[in-house]
This record gives sequence, structure tokens and C-alpha cells, in this order.
Amino acid sequence: MSKDNIISKVIDANMCSGCGICAGIVSNEKISMQFSEDGYLRPVINKSITEEENNILSQVCPGNVVNYDRVPTNEPVWGNIESSTIAYSTDENIRHKGSSGGVLSQLLVYLLEKGEVDEIIHIGVSNENPLLNEIKRSNTKEQVLQNSGSRYSPSAPLANLGKLLNENKKFALVGKPCDIAALRSYSRLDERVSEKILYFFSFFCAGVPSIEGTYKILENFNVKKEEVQSFRYRGEGWPGLTEVITSKNEKFNMKYDDSWGKILNRHLQPRCKVCIDGIGEFADISCGDGWFGNENGYPSFEESKGRSLVTTRTVKGQDLFERAVKEGHLSVDQSVSIEEIEKIQPYQSERRRLLLSRIIAMKVSRRRTPGYPKSLLVKSSQKISFKKKAKSFLGTTIRIKQGKM
Ligand SMILES: Cc1cc2nc3c(=O)[nH]c(=O)nc-3n(C[C@H](O)[C@H](O)[C@H](O)COP(=O)(O)OP(=O)(O)OC[C@H]3O[C@@H](n4cnc5c(N)ncnc54)[C@H](O)[C@@H]3O)c2cc1C
Repeated sequence: MSKDNIISKVIDANMCSGCGICAGIVSNEKISMQFSEDGYLRPVINKSITEEENNILSQVCPGNVVNYDRVPTNEPVWGNIESSTIAYSTDENIRHKGSSGGVLSQLLVYLLEKGEVDEIIHIGVSNENPLLNEIKRSNTKEQVLQNSGSRYSPSAPLANLGKLLNENKKFALVGKPCDIAALRSYSRLDERVSEKILYFFSFFCAGVPSIEGTYKILENFNVKKEEVQSFRYRGEGWPGLTEVITSKNEKFNMKYDDSWGKILNRHLQPRCKVCIDGIGEFADISCGDGWFGNENGYPSFEESKGRSLVTTRTVKGQDLFERAVKEGHLSVDQSVSIEEIEKIQPYQSERRRLLLSRIIAMKVSRRRTPGYPKSLLVKSSQKISFKKKAKSFLGTTIRIKQGKM
């Protein structure tokens, strides 16, 4: 196919999320994931794709469409929720190493130890470069723990999907919400997905920062890229410090509030600014930070023992969660209502409510947007002031004019 293929259209519109499903389905020979000039992972077409491949990609690429057809949305902002709780791993080490309460890593270890899956597909530090991510295949508790913690830089967990589906193994996969939305859509077209990938896990996601964000943190410490021995965004406590160790064993660290709040979140990819699902609606289980509110109700980032906000989104996810709790691997602090989630995750709430105004701004500027269900956009745009919507419309329009979207 010529330039008219869906990948080129999504890239031209700057709406690629970098999940890698195109490379994963079509083949790494035809499509490879590479860093773009602005520091995001993007597909590069090495050999032309067929009409049939293009047709499949058009239905699954989250830069083109997010398909809610068979996913219940009983709550327009927070999606389908079987249960929502604040929980953490009862294994102190997992809780400490995990990004928040170590719930995801604990569930992954549980599935491996029970023999329910053979391998976990998730993201960890590249063996070649401590600043980059790569897909990891973990089959022991130690490996799962090595790859725990959030990595706030580009990742493409679906880039080897085709290969996995040809193996005679059972997997669980962790991905960003956009990765899991793509995987869920593809599961409707290829029955091997549900046969081979038994559990889909995700997390609340405010967006993927460019690798430039990571480089800016290094600049802040006056450390050169080639001097880095290890780079951790957070974890080892909650929220834990961002920590760089150089080859000379010098240690530099920064509070999460500063690394995420003042550096990384200024480098989010454009697709994330108009993301419909920042909360893992298509996963079986999706976790976020179970932040404590300060006196004004806003999340406090003071160090404490990790707590995850756990949302189970399918009956299968709920069953797994219940078993892990019953058998003593997870401890539940409390159930949380939608009103409480709003307080714990104010950013996600506002982002979803403002999405319609951003999409309208894109349309008015004749920009291509991913296909989202209109009724959901309208329903989720309630309960937020007109002033905020107008500001968000204007902000998006300005960003488009400045070439930032
Ligand atoms: C880019 C990004 C943005 C986030 N934004 C928010 C937010 O706005 N609000 C919020 O509450 N939480 C956010 N989180 C999630 C949060 O940091 C925790 O991951 C979540 O609370 C689960 O904690 P845990 O202790 O259960 O996870 P852990 O037990 O630490 O497990 C984390 C799992 O995530 C996988 N992972 C890490 N980084 C990536 C990546 N880049 N891509 C794909 N998989 C990855 C790991 O391989 C691991 O399996 C974000 C995470 C990332 C990576």
C-alpha cells in the first residue's frame, strides 16, 4: 500500500500512542518501532503493508479508534468497575519495590506461582541502555520484581505480539491503557489473543513522556547520558525518589513531585492530551496510586507505605483479585466509592470531563482525532464548569497553532 495506509495517517496527525501493535501484528520485518526526533517510539514502515493488514490495523490502532462496542461503560468517567478498593501487597518487599502498593507485581507473581500462566509480558529497563525500556518476559518472582515500578518514558509492549501468539504458552500482559485498548480490539479479530493472553493488566496513566523528559532530569543533575549506570523513576517507597546512579557510583535523586510534576509531564505525547482512557478500562484489573488527600482534598505526595487504588473491570479480574485477597497475598484497606475515586484521582477526572472540549478544538482546527464514541464523550463532559471547558478548548487551539499538537 502507498502512503494512504492508516499508520501514515495516524503519524501525520500526531496521534500515534507508540503501543507497537502495528509492528506486532504485521511483522517486525515490515514495521519496526524506532525513536522519532522528538523522542517517542513510532512505527517505521520498512516494506509496504497489504490492504488486508491495513484493514486490521484500522480497527485496532488506538491512534485511529478506541472501540467500546463490547466494553460496558456503566460509569461515563470511571468506566466499568466490578470493585474499587485501596489495597497493597502483603509481601513487604513487593510493596516497597512496587510503584504504589505493588498490587500489579503481586498479582503477576501469584499467577506464575499458581501455574496459571507461563510468562508475564511487561516493560522493564533495557539490558543495553539503562535509560530505555524494553519488553521483558518474566517467569520468576525475581524477574517480576526486577521489572516492577513505573517507567515514565516510551514503551511498546505489543511490538512482539505476533511472535507471542505463535508460541505454545499462556501469558499475562501489562500495558498502558492505550496498549490494552488496542489488544482488546485485536482480541475480537484474532481468537489466539484470548487463548494465549489470559489476563490483561493496566494502570492509571496521565500520559507517556518523551525520552527528552528523562534527559532533562539528567541535565538537572549535570549527568551525561553515557555516565548513567541506573535510572529509576520511582518505587522503593511510595512514591519513592527518582534516582540516578552513575558509573562512578555517584547518586542523585529528586522527589517524585518534582520529576513528574515539573519535568516529565511537560513532555507528554500529543495523543495523551486527547486520550479517552487514562484509567485502564479495557484491562481485567487496573491500578493507580491510592493517594491520601491533603487538607484541601488534593493528593499529598508525602512518603509513606504504598497503597494502590485497585479497579477490577471484568468478572475474571474480580475473581483473581478476590482469590489473591482470600489467600493472603493482598490486603484491602477499604472499599472506595466513585466519589472517593474522584478525590484520589482529580487529574483523571478533570481530563476525562474536558476531553470533549479538546476534541472539538481539534475538529474546528481540521485535525484528525481518534474515533471515540460520541455519546460517551458527551456523557463524560458533565459536572465540570463551562469556564474550564472554554479554557481547555482555547488551550488546545493554541497548542495546535503553536505546532505542539
Ligand atoms: C507512563 C505512566 C503514567 C502513569 N500515570 C499515572 C497517573 O496519572 N495516576 C496514577 O495513579 N498512576 C499512574 N501511573 C501508574 C502508577 O505509577 C503505578 O503503576 C500503579 O499505581 C500501579 O502500581 P503497582 O505498585 O501496583 O505497580 P507495580 O507492581 O510497580 O507494577 C508496575 C507494572 O507496570 C509495568 N510498567 C512500568 N512502566 C511501564 C510503561 N512505561 N509501559 C508499560 N508498562 C509499564 C511494569 O512492567 C510492571 O509490571 C502511571 C504509570 C506510567 C508507567
